[in-house]
Amino acid sequence: MSIQSLVEAATNPPKSDSLSSSPFDANSFDEAVMSTYARFPLALERGAGCRVWDSEGREYLDFVAGIATCTLGHAHPAMVEAVTRQIQKLHHVSNLYYIREQGELAQWLIQHSCADRVFFCNSGAEANEAAIKLARKYAHTVLEIERPIILTANASFHGRTLATITATGQPKYQKHFDPLVPGFHYVPYNDIGAIEAAISELDEGDYRVAAILLEPLQGEGGVRPGDRAYFQKLRQICDETGVLLIFDEVQVGMGRTGKLWGYETLGVEPDIFTSAKGLGGGIPIGAMMSKKFCDVFQPGEHASTFGGNPFACGVALSVCQTLEKENILENVQQRGEQLREGLNAIAAKNPHLIADVRGWGLINGMELQADIQLTAAEIVKVAIAEGVLLVPAGPKVLRFVPPLIVTEAEVNTALQAVEKALATLTV
Ligand SMILES: *Cc1c(COP(=O)(O)O)cnc(C)c1O
Repeated sequence: MSIQSLVEAATNPPKSDSLSSSPFDANSFDEAVMSTYARFPLALERGAGCRVWDSEGREYLDFVAGIATCTLGHAHPAMVEAVTRQIQKLHHVSNLYYIREQGELAQWLIQHSCADRVFFCNSGAEANEAAIKLARKYAHTVLEIERPIILTANASFHGRTLATITATGQPKYQKHFDPLVPGFHYVPYNDIGAIEAAISELDEGDYRVAAILLEPLQGEGGVRPGDRAYFQKLRQICDETGVLLIFDEVQVGMGRTGKLWGYETLGVEPDIFTSAKGLGGGIPIGAMMSKKFCDVFQPGEHASTFGGNPFACGVALSVCQTLEKENILENVQQRGEQLREGLNAIAAKNPHLIADVRGWGLINGMELQADIQLTAAEIVKVAIAEGVLLVPAGPKVLRFVPPLIVTEAEVNTALQAVEKALATLTV
């Protein structure tokens, strides 16, 4: 199905019988569900393309996409077909057996990346856990490091398990959850001197740096792109020292940056990298991929009950094939440029409010001036009232991560809403 026909499908309002008949009750929800999220007062019940409808039938343009996850938007015919086919045929069996769809997805991934092998799991945090375990085993068995250290960056984000909140260089995610997992050390992002210093200073007794784990562009930490020269120098340092270079591609992988993988934008290949968010287009799946270090894990050393099941892999494969068949990366590049151009124009008109616009492809951030009271979350609330869903990346950055099939008209609509939201807030 072409993007054009998707737009047509998406602009048709929902049929009344596809919406729930009873009104949504947020109080009963809050009485039953743990309060781990500060939710916007909105219950989304249906989606098509880049549009979603709430429980009252109000329409929104979705520039959140489940946080950079719904690659093909909502109710894409290729996903509907794959989900239906897979649930009718076989949805889950154990990894005690060969799973055809898992093999096919792994083959697609290794044909379209620098990886030689794939391990499947269900989320970004789990994919990073697998990468951390692989790096540690490699450190113990090949590098012969008794106490391996993994360097990660300040303002990074790697997930919510104990090891991945430790890897995450933001104290707010770690508070009250100590004791944290030993073996991590933080450095400033895009600072090669800090890496060199850490590698030489942390070489003492049984301790040594075994791996460096970084996002090619920091998503959650404020949409901060990696510096090409920094990453190329990192690659060189890792080649010289044997330290593993691990990229967390959970948010930027699967076409979000306009290339399939964020590392392509940097011109640097990692030894290990992880994917999750966009990989299944919204179906839970994660993957840890490696080049060269494929035979480090032996049978029984790592596993996941759901990881790589026929359902998740069958659907993810259809997402991958659709990206390729419909030339969606080109759309990401063009719409990304259009979006940044529009945001820059808004910034030029509001220099007292906006400090910076930055990003790659369809992951972009608009940073607010530090000295104003306004937070990104406040702007998001007003944008919702204007009919566009956005998500903050930290307190001062608005993040724009629409489905990769977003159209020119939809980008313009979102830009108009942002401009209006800023005007409303400053009157
Ligand atoms: C979202 C995210 C994660 C965590 O993924 P989950 O699926 O929520 O566990 C890890 N790393 C990055 C860069 C992310 O953006």
